Amino acid sequence: MRLFTLGTGAGRPTLHRHTSATALEYEGEVFLFDCGESVQLQLVRSPLKWGKMRAIFVGHLHGDHLFGLPGLLGTLSLVDRKEPLQVFGPVGLKEYLRVHLEIKSLWINYPLEVIEIEKPGLILETERYQVFTGPLGHIIPCWGYAFREKPRPGVFNDSKARALGIPEGPERMELVQGRSVTLPDGRLIQASEVVGPSRPGRSFAYCLDTRPCEEVVALARGVDLMVHEATFGRELQADAQQWGHSTAADAARMARESGVKRLVLTHISQRYSDPQVLLHEAKEVFPEVELAEDLQVFPV
Ligand SMILES: [Zn+2]
Ligand SMILES: [Zn+2]
Repeated sequence: MRLFTLGTGAGRPTLHRHTSATALEYEGEVFLFDCGESVQLQLVRSPLKWGKMRAIFVGHLHGDHLFGLPGLLGTLSLVDRKEPLQVFGPVGLKEYLRVHLEIKSLWINYPLEVIEIEKPGLILETERYQVFTGPLGHIIPCWGYAFREKPRPGVFNDSKARALGIPEGPERMELVQGRSVTLPDGRLIQASEVVGPSRPGRSFAYCLDTRPCEEVVALARGVDLMVHEATFGRELQADAQQWGHSTAADAARMARESGVKRLVLTHISQRYSDPQVLLHEAKEVFPEVELAEDLQVFPV
């Protein structure tokens, strides 16, 4: 599981920071969080593949998080996508895309499902993972997201399996799934003999744009990695509050209160030619913090 910060700027693009987009690569599939206008170029510059896109999550309808979406959806038609695609986002997203389709600026030839979020909770679930959403504290309706992998099977002890004479094949798969098997010679092997204890799932939370608020803490509780906006430094605390944003120290406080393991700061205002000052302010509150650059990769 790897995270790619494709666009880490706030409001408008600069030479060094494109507007918001973050991709999560999970077992070969790609989940995109926000679609700033340079998202296609940044995807081309990354090792991620168009065809692996599984779902897109738009936090809110401000342009710096949204203007890349129609172009990206159109390109997926040009590269002959046939698989369905789900796009989640606030109320208004359907209308936004409907107008693009109606005036024919956008053409889509694969099954596209747009899901407008109206309440917090579970929005996507498979056998392997769940995606939750919760409201954030911005100046327009805004949703944060948490991707939570379900507990994973324990590690298979290959040398022990060999010593017990368990053949390569379906028996091993049964054991990994936690079931006992009977070998051709009649011996019964319990899964616990060759498979370690199940491992906790990995998790990631995406929280922008927002003031610090209880909903962030609830959504991100205990995740391995939280991506949180840090638009301003402490000297602009009042602006952050007024415009529904966070300072770097606010983001760090949210990370501490949620009990997350690591924090990545993004959505950096173009006024900071040296954003290291933001990193220092955050570190005073929560040491396990990094400041994202465009196209940076974070293993989870
Ligand atoms: Zn923004
Ligand atoms: Zn915004």
